[in-house]
Amino acid sequence: MPKPIVNEELCIGCGTCEALCPKVFKVEDGKSHVIAEDCVDCDCAEVVSSCPVNAISLG
Ligand code: SF4
Repeated sequence: MPKPIVNEELCIGCGTCEALCPKVFKVEDGKSHVIAEDCVDCDCAEVVSSCPVNAISLG
């Protein structure tokens, strides 16, 4: 499974990724952090396309 990567320079901490995928993303101190090794439930495509600043990519 792909591992999502957050570009913290771009992230505005909106929380969309955490709301969609709380097992993988956690927003702390205004930035989203990847807390899982891999995407577990899906391929993260919805989360990637839902980020308003395109800060999420897949490794
Ligand atoms: S959806 Fe994008 S901008 Fe919003 S918290 Fe997640 S990575 Fe940051």
